[in-house]
Amino acid sequence: MTAQTIKSTCPYCGVGCGVLLTPDGQGGLAVKGDPDHPANFGRLCSKGSALGETVTLDERLLTPQVNGAATDWDSALDLVARKFRDTIDTYGPDSTAFYVSGQLLSEDYYVANKLMKGFIGSANIDTNSRLCMASSVAGHKRAFGTDTVPGTYEDLDEADLIVLVGSNLAWCHPVLHQRILAAKKKRGTKLVVIDPRRTNSCDGAEMHLAVAPGGDVPIFNRLLSAIHDRGHTDPDFLTHVEGAEAAFASAADQDITPTGLSEGAIEAFIDLWLSHEKVVTIYSQGVNQSSSGTDKVNAILNCHLATGRIGKQGCGPFSVTGQPNAMGGREVGGLANMLACHLDLENADHRAAVKDFWSAPAIPDAAGLKAVDMFRAVGEGRIKALWIIHTNPAVSMPDANAVRDAIAGCDFVVVSDITAQTDTARLADVILPATAWGEKEGTVTNSDRTISRQRTVLPAPDGTRPDWDILADVARRMGYGAAFDYASPAEIFREYAALSGIAGGFGRDFDISGLADLTDTEYSALEPTRWPVSDGKTGGRFFADGQFYHPGGKGRMIPVTYRAPAAKTARKYPFRLNTGRIRDQWHTMTRTALSPRLSAHLAEPFVEIHPEDAADLSIAPADLVTIQSPEGTAILRARITDTVQRGTTFAPMHWTGETAPSARIDALVAAVTDPISGQPESKAAVARLSRF
Ligand code: SF4
Repeated sequence: MTAQTIKSTCPYCGVGCGVLLTPDGQGGLAVKGDPDHPANFGRLCSKGSALGETVTLDERLLTPQVNGAATDWDSALDLVARKFRDTIDTYGPDSTAFYVSGQLLSEDYYVANKLMKGFIGSANIDTNSRLCMASSVAGHKRAFGTDTVPGTYEDLDEADLIVLVGSNLAWCHPVLHQRILAAKKKRGTKLVVIDPRRTNSCDGAEMHLAVAPGGDVPIFNRLLSAIHDRGHTDPDFLTHVEGAEAAFASAADQDITPTGLSEGAIEAFIDLWLSHEKVVTIYSQGVNQSSSGTDKVNAILNCHLATGRIGKQGCGPFSVTGQPNAMGGREVGGLANMLACHLDLENADHRAAVKDFWSAPAIPDAAGLKAVDMFRAVGEGRIKALWIIHTNPAVSMPDANAVRDAIAGCDFVVVSDITAQTDTARLADVILPATAWGEKEGTVTNSDRTISRQRTVLPAPDGTRPDWDILADVARRMGYGAAFDYASPAEIFREYAALSGIAGGFGRDFDISGLADLTDTEYSALEPTRWPVSDGKTGGRFFADGQFYHPGGKGRMIPVTYRAPAAKTARKYPFRLNTGRIRDQWHTMTRTALSPRLSAHLAEPFVEIHPEDAADLSIAPADLVTIQSPEGTAILRARITDTVQRGTTFAPMHWTGETAPSARIDALVAAVTDPISGQPESKAAVARLSRF
């Protein structure tokens, strides 16, 4: 490592790869994988290795703007503080909301959550992580009593069988996929993919179950039934679990028609699962982004609980998070239904402890508005002051046209971002220029609970400020004074870690109080550290000892039954529309589109159509196709491929377009959510196709 090389963390997906960054002295960066980081051991994917191409200042916002005109920071922040204060005084705290992002560092996230839940006195702070893993959070809490990821990345190296459910890991978490391929080579790990599409993740897999959209619960119920009937339960472990008999009864005689799979295919999968002791089930958005997402999660968790295949080496259910700090957001309480440090908003003792710790005037006693409901409230005029931080809901939310119109009609909208060139920023009354990745300091938590540092390697351009600093400044201008008198991210981290000690005292899982006394120098040098970190607790696996976090200490199996996707195909809308990511773009492309190399992979928006459907519709390869749903319309380039099933289509979610119709595919997705998690069903919209 040269003297100038700095260790940091990739800002894209939840794998959380370590990077070595060497500035070239002219604003650019050389990027390598960090060989010492436990997430990637030097590997990087295409997006991570192109980071150096995306740090240009070309698209950056460098001055606060009010109604499109440049202004100074004092004027902008005075206006934000005054508008929020006036709105609260006139309409109450619940007339305000923050919509934040898994791109935020934990320190930024912590301050935003503290301001909204502790001082404004509303729980109306939600995050784009709601679109990503809220069903996983809800499933974890139902089964374990806390939102705990039981395993670690090492389990992928040590498993005998890995099952990918609703996850194109090869494109969306490429370094984890590389890790699995390495394990296959080294120890013959078998791989099964359960996905309606035949994706790149199927390359090298022993089995691909091309399940019908939404058919996951019947597969895992059938597996649970076989576990029970064929004597594969772990009776000792089940003494630590409640609800097993009800779950077995619910899974018995499971009809597999909704899976679209043959008895033989499911039986082959069950044989494979039962004949391997070390099984890891990785799941992602295909499970979570569903109107029955929480039940799908629990269907998977049930199988691992019934067999005791959890918390042990090479075993366990494994939710992989989409964003770099989706986990950190969950930990600081960035979801509308959570308190900081995995404490519960509905628990009076937890609320009182946090209120006392923060010296806060009030902590709300009920969940705030989850993302879809939040934007519905914006559209109905119930939210009158909205602060959107590092996310682009006018493109990425379901029913995106309605969300765009809601933001446009809101009384007062603030956007913090690194650029003003997003669909959402263009609708804001105030735009605040934030520092970007590479310029700021803080921590993120990846999918296996490892906290890593993001470090400053480039000078922050004049005119930009870190998010924690912007939020704390507004809090002070609103009159919340000393509680937000932070001097650095290290100071915020110490407070956050100390608060987690209170959570640990309540017997919660998230406890990093062992880091509460880090000096500035130690914080600066913090190596990747998996939580928990406190006296007697180390960052290993959870639950092998049968200790869970429900009252009484037992885990819970949850009876689940199949529910079809909410939107029904019909003659007018005969296709099932699946949306998702592509390999080389990230979210709405505000950063990755700056790299010519990344943009060359798949250069324009497209829709995948099965060859027989294309023939029926007289659509030829590369034709422009109009795709319509009850919610909206897009025009996309046809890709004719049998990787999608007949009657289904797939389109990426990254692209936008100023005019309608456009390539904003989330404008076609209905704002239907899982009733428990509030996560939208982004994988099972309905649509019709025609040649443009
Ligand atoms: Fe970054 Fe994810 Fe790629 Fe790792 S796998 S380099 S964290 S985008």
